[in-house]
Amino acid sequence: MARVFNWQLGREMSYWYPESRPKRQFAAVFDTNKCIACQTCSLACKTTWTSGRGQEAMFWNNVESKPYGFYPLGWDVKLLELLGPQTWEGGVYAGRTIFEAARPGERVLGFAPDELDYAHPNIGEDECSAAIDRGAHLSGTHNAWMFYLARICNHCTYPACLASCPRGSIYKRPEDGIVLIDQKRCRGYQECVKACPYKKTFYNPATRTSEKCIACYPKIENGQQPQCVVNCIGKIRLQGWLSAPGAAREENPIDYLVHVRKLALPLFPQLGLEPNVYYIPPVHVPEPYLVQLFGPGAPAAVKAYRAVLEEEKLAGLIGGIFGSTEQRVERFSVENGSAIGYGPEGSEVIRVPVREPVHVRMAYDAARSVMRTNSP
Ligand code: SF4
Ligand code: SF4
Repeated sequence: MARVFNWQLGREMSYWYPESRPKRQFAAVFDTNKCIACQTCSLACKTTWTSGRGQEAMFWNNVESKPYGFYPLGWDVKLLELLGPQTWEGGVYAGRTIFEAARPGERVLGFAPDELDYAHPNIGEDECSAAIDRGAHLSGTHNAWMFYLARICNHCTYPACLASCPRGSIYKRPEDGIVLIDQKRCRGYQECVKACPYKKTFYNPATRTSEKCIACYPKIENGQQPQCVVNCIGKIRLQGWLSAPGAAREENPIDYLVHVRKLALPLFPQLGLEPNVYYIPPVHVPEPYLVQLFGPGAPAAVKAYRAVLEEEKLAGLIGGIFGSTEQRVERFSVENGSAIGYGPEGSEVIRVPVREPVHVRMAYDAARSVMRTNSP
């Protein structure tokens, strides 16, 4: 195995291929605090890419209610159990990744879900962390919680799917870091399904090949954001490029949230894949659970997010530019009360007010001599 540097772990680790970072890395930020689980993203993806025969159980994008929602069933808890308890020491991961913990004869520690694990794409929907006593809604606040976790392929820097493929059918594009399966080479061994800890490769029994999220690459090549991003009702998503940590640019919205402000964090960084979808953690969930999901940076990210309205730049980016344009925003600025996004060509593609004006209408409209029932 090669030694590679994983900045999310703060250390080197073992991987099956030498470090080879793409020219630009596809990345996205999802704000979990804004997701309403409407599943519009899931359907936008499904109707675009996976409506064919053999793709019935494929959700390249899914949204699950945590802690009890999964797709496929138990994808995360089963792997965490296999890996066993691991620790962080400060910002450095002191445990083993799924490459380092692989069993003899295997390249990655993983498991193959059963067919029935794919039977219920939205199992656990809206189930909260604990049972609530009867009548609790009348007696005040209670401590049960849940939140929505939207998931796509992470187009990982060190993909487990790619490492596991005995046919060399999976490749990471050098121009944008998108991870694809060559359908002509794939023989359907499903090693990638077993290896991907996020369970984001799917077997198609009709074509007998594995398939996965392609990051809507025809749109990416055209300077646009993917379908799941632009159709998001909650405007929780932004797609762009992520620079290596030493080369972060403050005006790049993804770099700003991930590297500069450290507000957006990877999902299960301890597994070692350097995933490139970053999450702003939910602010109402117990810290130990957040640390398990998003790593040791979670408490600081929650604190920073709680203060987001006090900072015009962050408020303008997260509240204004997220979900406001189909174009990819590669540079942004916030000035004179406006958040401005610039596209791949460098020209302005979006300008939105940081704070929406609020108009309060009086209940009684004297000019028309009517009472309004929807005021203010
Ligand atoms: S999330 Fe899974 S399918 Fe996607 S690149 Fe990473 S290992 Fe491969
Ligand atoms: S479309 Fe957006 S708000 Fe709706 S479920 Fe998907 S990520 Fe959440």
